[in-house]
Amino acid sequence: MQATFAQLGVPNDICLALERRGINTPFEIQAATIADALEGRDVCGRAPTGSGKTLAFGVPLVVTVGVADPRRPRALVLAPTRELADQIAVELRSFAGDVRVGVVYGGVGYGKQFSMLRRGVDILVACPGRLEDLLDQDGLTLADVDQVVIDEADRMADMGFLPAVRRLLDQTSPQRQTVLFSATLDGDVAQLTRSYQRNPVRHEVGEAKPDITLADHQFWRVERADRIDATVRAITENGQAIVFCRTRHGSDRLARQLGQRGVDAVAIHGGHAQNKRRRSLAQFTAGKTQALVATDVAARGIHVDEVDAVVHYDPPEDHKTYIHRSGRTARAGRGGVVVSLVQPDQARDTHRMKVKLGLAAADTESNSRSSSTRRDRSQPSGAKAKSAGTKSKSSGAKAKSSGGQRKSSAGRARNGRPKSKNGSHGNQRSHNGNRPKGKGRSRPKSRSRNRNNSRRPAARR
Ligand code: ADP
Ligand code: MG
Repeated sequence: MQATFAQLGVPNDICLALERRGINTPFEIQAATIADALEGRDVCGRAPTGSGKTLAFGVPLVVTVGVADPRRPRALVLAPTRELADQIAVELRSFAGDVRVGVVYGGVGYGKQFSMLRRGVDILVACPGRLEDLLDQDGLTLADVDQVVIDEADRMADMGFLPAVRRLLDQTSPQRQTVLFSATLDGDVAQLTRSYQRNPVRHEVGEAKPDITLADHQFWRVERADRIDATVRAITENGQAIVFCRTRHGSDRLARQLGQRGVDAVAIHGGHAQNKRRRSLAQFTAGKTQALVATDVAARGIHVDEVDAVVHYDPPEDHKTYIHRSGRTARAGRGGVVVSLVQPDQARDTHRMKVKLGLAAADTESNSRSSSTRRDRSQPSGAKAKSAGTKSKSSGAKAKSSGGQRKSSAGRARNGRPKSKNGSHGNQRSHNGNRPKGKGRSRPKSRSRNRNNSRRPAARR
């Protein structure tokens, strides 16, 4: 039988807050990681998009975080994009009670972020660039941060943020707990784990790579001048689509051109103010627009369920980007169509990419739509229909948690304190909403900077 949140050690008031949002049973990655994270262990988790990683790290964080002084947050969640940072903050606040959750990212003014930090936040969700700017301007210090979450570590690596992530981690408490989530755990992410996590418990859920064969991959040969009409056709034939463009300017222009041809489209890219991006995304997720025209950077970390199609208007930089982009459709057992617009001079590169992706076998490359052959091969029967299947994101995910290290702490939290039955530490913040007011509330003096060898001060909160 599957464990409940309560059985994983989650306090009752948080279980109730989750239930109010219709979240009753932990998803697989949550069931695998929450107890370890509550114990204070470093966790290294791999799970696909939509598998519920936010609550997997968010619930333990809210339960265990200490109370922050002004400009001295206690927990830090690093995320690669503003949208993702926002989504995380919104999700955490939905059950955080009196735990203060703040969020900082670029593209918006500094004023509000400075004053929020001055008032004090317990959990700070941040994009690395803006956080470094705020640190440079003495808006805060990370010296009290004894819990760090690195979300979407692979994307951070892809986007070139790892040097900044390292600099930031170096400023946090050496006794910190470090939790890392990623869609892949190799390469740069493995290195990050080696240098910044201590004896992490590793949990892996789902396939190592997104199963792109669940989508119907179509490669349309088009002349440059015909790309807009082809995009219109891809959308009218398949439904709501994310259309990928290489540049910001190109995305704005294409959204306009689609509009002129009767397809409701909004562009989303880093050149837009955050409010505009949020509005565009909300319109699209509400189904009010048929197409979201996005640059790769803007699209990272956007969570949109049930996109019918992905259109590669400009070709992806490489096969990894193709996988990232295409993973926006055919999620959670639903079907989806991926259309690549291939101009004659792009045919060779496209073919090479298809070979890398294992999509080249049935490739004819000669006519304008080589889709029928692909469809036969890559699409399991029934996958295409937009089934009204259940929303359970974990369905089909396979457990591969490495039990090997799991119990290495032999029932003791890493900080040496015995683990109580329900995973709580006794002196953690109460979650009955009656948090004592005033300085020093529920924070013993001994919490203060303890730089000895123990990973964490004995009375952390
Ligand atoms: P990931 O970070 O792995 O991509 P998210 O954390 O964004 O996934 O979760 C995807 C969606 O699933 C969110 O809308 C979230 O509210 C929902 N969700 C997460 N956990 C559960 C659960 N245990 N039960 C029901 N819905 C959940
Ligand atoms: Mg996530």
